[in-house]
Amino acid sequence: MSAAPIPYGRSTQKAPATPEVHILWITAGLSCDGDTVSITAATQPSIEDVLLGAIPGLPKVHLHNPVLAYEVGDDFMKHWYEAEKGRLEPFVLVIEGSIPNEKIKKEGYWAALGTNPTSGQPITTCEWIDRLAPKATAVVACGTCATYGGIHAMQGNPTGCMGLADYLGWNWKSKAGLPIVNVPGCPVQPDNFMETLLYLLYQLAGLAPMIPLDDQLRPKWLFGFTVHEGCDRAGYYEQGDFAEDYNSEKCLVKIGCWGPVVNCNVPKRGWMAGIGGCPNVGGICIGCTMPGFPDKFMPFMDEPPGARISAGTIGVYGTAIRSLRAITNHTVNKEPKWRHPGRKLTTGYHPQAF
Ligand code: SF4
Ligand code: SF4
Ligand code: SF4
Repeated sequence: MSAAPIPYGRSTQKAPATPEVHILWITAGLSCDGDTVSITAATQPSIEDVLLGAIPGLPKVHLHNPVLAYEVGDDFMKHWYEAEKGRLEPFVLVIEGSIPNEKIKKEGYWAALGTNPTSGQPITTCEWIDRLAPKATAVVACGTCATYGGIHAMQGNPTGCMGLADYLGWNWKSKAGLPIVNVPGCPVQPDNFMETLLYLLYQLAGLAPMIPLDDQLRPKWLFGFTVHEGCDRAGYYEQGDFAEDYNSEKCLVKIGCWGPVVNCNVPKRGWMAGIGGCPNVGGICIGCTMPGFPDKFMPFMDEPPGARISAGTIGVYGTAIRSLRAITNHTVNKEPKWRHPGRKLTTGYHPQAF
């Protein structure tokens, strides 16, 4: 039974009766399942809150993810066949993992989910995308492998794999008029993904306007800033105070941090419950959210191009400013001189004559 069309982008319109929504989550791209594992740590919202109906206004949500499902075998796969026949509407299709190019693999396949009951052959991941994407209300790529190809798509790989938008087309739209939604990260930051899913579920309920995406199809409010702009160590950078090894609390740019040119909110948001966030806790940013990852960021431990010039320039300014601030800091670290016992008032107070 088909649901009525959903009024995307018209939040002032009266909300339709909230449908039940299914999330069909393919982890069978070229992947390590790390994104599914990651989202189990989400708290804003948690996956439990979404599935158990703890969030007001959301439709009832059914999740079909092979890593998290209680069902196995045919009991698990039946939802996929129902969706293919148009009997599981509306549904959101989530893709995790890089999309292999099966056209270069005549002798077999790279990735698959389930078995074709007629031929007995595996159903390839590409075939599932071809079957289900046209019927999905929204399609979400979860993690950098699914969004842009990621590690599996690096130069020299034998699979010819790619991101979902490379496969379906960057101008692809769902039947409800939504573009592909990309939530990159290797793995995806748990709350970034769950917050995006929450937004889409509100959109399905007619309670949110069109999701704002940038030209790489990322949610703008999550990926509009650089790592550097949210980094706990940015003060050290500004003062030209750089770490020479990994046992330092100072800025990591000279030992390989790409934070100044990478779109990611992890230093602001942390990893789990606000804790962590790569450079905040001593890890260089290797650009894992970026379309150019990993090739354009390798070798990882080297000083990024441009870092020598920017660090050298900021070093001159920062060293001078740091010295001046040290003098001021020394001054303001002492109490004013009039705070002492004695018979004479030395505060400069002058009583008014009445
Ligand atoms: Fe694994 Fe990273 Fe790919 Fe996600 S993006 S499937 S965590 S390699
Ligand atoms: Fe910027 Fe990286 Fe230094 Fe943080 S550690 S201030 S992100 S260069
Ligand atoms: Fe990836 Fe850098 Fe963000 Fe860490 S800070 S998650 S390495 S992009």
